[in-house]
Amino acid sequence: MIASDPSKVTAICFDRIHIPGQNTLAVAQKNGAYAFLPTVLNEFDSPKIISEVKTSGLRGRGGAGFPTGMKWSFVPRNTGKPTYLLCNADEGEPGTFKDRDIMRFDPHLLIEGMIMSGFALGVRDAYIYIRGEFLHEANVLDAAVKEAYEANLLGQRILGSSFSMNLTVHRGAGAYICGEETALIESLEGRAGRPRFKPPFPAVEGFYRSPTVVNNVETLCTIPAILAHGGEWHSKIGVPNSAGMKIFSVSGNVNKAGNYEVPMGTPLRVLVEQYCGGLQHGDVPKVIIPGGSSTPWLGAEHYDIPLAYDEVHKAGSMLGSGAVIILDETADPIALTRRLAHFYAHESCGQCTPCREGTGWLERVMLRLEAGQCNEQDLVVLKEASQHMAGRTICALADGAAAPILSLLKMFPDAVRSYLAENKA
Ligand code: SF4
Repeated sequence: MIASDPSKVTAICFDRIHIPGQNTLAVAQKNGAYAFLPTVLNEFDSPKIISEVKTSGLRGRGGAGFPTGMKWSFVPRNTGKPTYLLCNADEGEPGTFKDRDIMRFDPHLLIEGMIMSGFALGVRDAYIYIRGEFLHEANVLDAAVKEAYEANLLGQRILGSSFSMNLTVHRGAGAYICGEETALIESLEGRAGRPRFKPPFPAVEGFYRSPTVVNNVETLCTIPAILAHGGEWHSKIGVPNSAGMKIFSVSGNVNKAGNYEVPMGTPLRVLVEQYCGGLQHGDVPKVIIPGGSSTPWLGAEHYDIPLAYDEVHKAGSMLGSGAVIILDETADPIALTRRLAHFYAHESCGQCTPCREGTGWLERVMLRLEAGQCNEQDLVVLKEASQHMAGRTICALADGAAAPILSLLKMFPDAVRSYLAENKA
């Protein structure tokens, strides 16, 4: 049960996740799911809900960290077009694996969050766009949606109110780029998942060129608690400008990799040592990747950094989706970078020349570097090419591809040089 005292909250999205059978409607309702929904549908209205979400300080948990209430307030009303709500359940960022746990173990929390959000936005049709590889989670969601329809939690005149909403689970085909909201929309419309130029932003012109809100799973799952306890309550959890709880997916050289929900602002060292059983080797990490593979790396001097948007940004990186990857002294950052270069080259959608050509080129140079076939001039070109890719493309994939290369060259110049042909001879 979520504590009404903000200082005593230990979980929001993971509050009921460990309860056996929580994926079924009967167990979920026994443990409080949908309990506050009638109040929302009968006593709240759109301005009140959006105001509460704004007050809560909730920021999108999918990566960009954009304030959710503000995003909702951008949606134009009375356009004569339908407004759509899309849940981004693509979760493809290497290192991120939190949303799948919510969907697998507590799918009704997501459905409840979507009904409340859909009600606030005047939505008639909502979709969960789930990553193609998440077959089990898609099946769990399908079963939960079916139960919700049968209980009149979805469909016509929900729970006897005047609000009606349909919800469809749509499986993608496994492309990383479909986690980008406009590529997701293209894919959902039946085309190849390729990002659109922005503006127009989806809030104004999204799915079928209609006003569309795209929110991440964790974001939508936070809405029921915010409405039940109030925006003010949520704003008091965490730290200024980074309110609430956050699920961090921790992987790499820690003893207990996994998902941990902690208050925003929790120091990284606390997360690693108190929740993850500490590092496998050494006292401090060699590399900290704070927000998924596309975020710039931090060094050991940032081991005590508070995990909050502003603090991580000030340190030169991003909190992203909260996928913390830790490398200890035994890890090889060059092998990791080469592997990530392959990933981004494989996942580029090919629309922009700097990304399409650049990602493949970076991978080939990294392969040559690892094989001891590069010289000093190759390193100069590697750096310049990465710098020229970032910020010159339709979406941020090219920036994400450049980030590990630039981090490697900056943090480990001597290790990189030791791989050059003249030093391998
Ligand atoms: Fe596609 Fe890459 Fe351009 Fe993004 S940056 S639109 S992934 S080519």
